[in-house]
Formats: sequence, structure tokens, C-alpha cells
Amino acid sequence: MSRPAVFLDRDGTLIVERDHLDRIEAIQPFPWTADALRLLNRAGYATVVITNQSGVGRGFFDEAFVRATHAAFDAKLAKGDARIDAYYFCPHHPEEARPPYLRACECRKPKPGMIERACRDLDLDPARSVMIGDRWIDVACGRAAGARSVLVRTGYGAREERHPPDGARADAILNNLMEAVGWILRSSSR
Ligand SMILES: [Mg+2]
Ligand SMILES: [Zn+2]
Repeated sequence: MSRPAVFLDRDGTLIVERDHLDRIEAIQPFPWTADALRLLNRAGYATVVITNQSGVGRGFFDEAFVRATHAAFDAKLAKGDARIDAYYFCPHHPEEARPPYLRACECRKPKPGMIERACRDLDLDPARSVMIGDRWIDVACGRAAGARSVLVRTGYGAREERHPPDGARADAILNNLMEAVGWILRSSSR
């Protein structure tokens, strides 16, 4: 039976936003990140990172660096008895990347390609899932995949909240990842 998931933006949602994080030492989870993920792990949600990393295509760092970053994040989470089940990243950009990353792909958020791929790979049910992120592109990505979406005010979120694009609608706008997890756990127990 397919499982519910929580899809998570990385920068500004799980870790402090650094414009194109390019040093592993600069990964800084929020103080509540491990606790929030552990609650989702224990509640039976798959935890899946969905992140645009056009810094690869722009030549700021390579795919191996992105994977090393995720391994370092995993190690920090393990100390808090928490885990991410899978990572998906989009290395492309439609205009500002170098080949082979220069293309209008199906994975760059707000397109839902990464979530759709995760649902196939991991047998996840988008209708029972939620996307959490600090930008409207995250919200749009979740909704396009058939999931609910939460905008958090960390990272770019407080600014984004003041400038919603036409037609943008989140299922909730909350202060941070921990509040979003509380909202998910309350709404799924109804
Ligand atoms: Mg973000
Ligand atoms: Zn892509």
C-alpha cells in the first residue's frame, strides 16, 4: 500500500538559507529540524527532500558536492535520531546553466517532476502527502503533484508571504518546519 510522505524543500526550510550553499561546513540545520523530522519518521511518513540546485548547472559546485552535502546533513540528523528517506535535486536551469544542464527540464520546481518521480520510486501517495517550503515555487510544486502545501516563514518565507503571485494558495502558512509538522500530525489524526 502506498505511503504518505512529507516532501521537504532544503534551503530555508530544513537548513539556514545560504545563497547557493557551496561549503559543507556551512550546513546549519534549524534548532528544531531533527526533532521535527523524527516526529515524521515515527508517524510513518516518508521524508523526502525536493531541492532545486541550479548551482550545479551554473558551475558553482558539482553533483558530487550536492551528494556530500546530503551525507553530512544525514550525519547531523542521525545524532538527533532522525532521518531523510530520499533526496531528489534538480541540477538544471533553463537559461543560466552550461551543457548538459542547460535545459527546460521537468524537475525544476515549481514543476512537480521530482515529487512524481519520488512517488513512483518509493510508492508514495501524493493525495495523502504534504510539501513544505519557504517559497511559492515549493507550494506550487506540491499542489501540482496533488499534495497539500505549507509555506514556512523561515528562509525567504516571510518575504514570500507578503508577495504571493496571482492565484497562489497555500493550505497553511506557518512560522517554521516544526509548526508545519504539528499541523500535519494534527490534520492527519482527524
Ligand atoms: Mg528554500
Ligand atoms: Zn531539472
